[in-house]
Amino acid sequence: MILISSCLAGHPVRYDGKGKGHEVFTRLVDDKKALYACPELLGGLSVPRAPAEIIGGDGEDCLEGRARVVTINGIDVTDAFIEGAKRTLDFCLKYRIKTVVLKSGSPSCGSGKIYDGTFTSTSINGDGVTTALLKRHHITVMDEFTFIERINDTSMKRNML
Ligand code: SF4
Repeated sequence: MILISSCLAGHPVRYDGKGKGHEVFTRLVDDKKALYACPELLGGLSVPRAPAEIIGGDGEDCLEGRARVVTINGIDVTDAFIEGAKRTLDFCLKYRIKTVVLKSGSPSCGSGKIYDGTFTSTSINGDGVTTALLKRHHITVMDEFTFIERINDTSMKRNML
């Protein structure tokens, strides 16, 4: 069993009220091979919500108190993002999930690349807050592109699809 971002399963939970469903992930959920969660909703945020980016670092820096998650309107939502990350981790521990596929680019779910806090679609290296916390607990996190690439050419496909 893996965990995926709710928006990849097609649920309209993104800040703009839309989903980002892909047939690979909806099929995994339908076949009961994947559970889903949205860290930002688990942290108490609503849909729709103002877009947010990490200012001053990445998710790891947020966990260490060195960076903040701030909306485009200047509201600090760091606490909600950290709460969502903790609840997502609890979910993984409860269901013994070791592999997680999270939506790329998000300040919660981003994996390897996030936006730089200027709201100009500029990417920097780094993880989102939830990704950083899951990695701290030795959970494998990858984005949707990496996952799809892997199932296209490895035995993971046999187990997942
Ligand atoms: S927090 Fe993650 S699961 Fe929720 S909408 Fe953003 S990218 Fe999707």
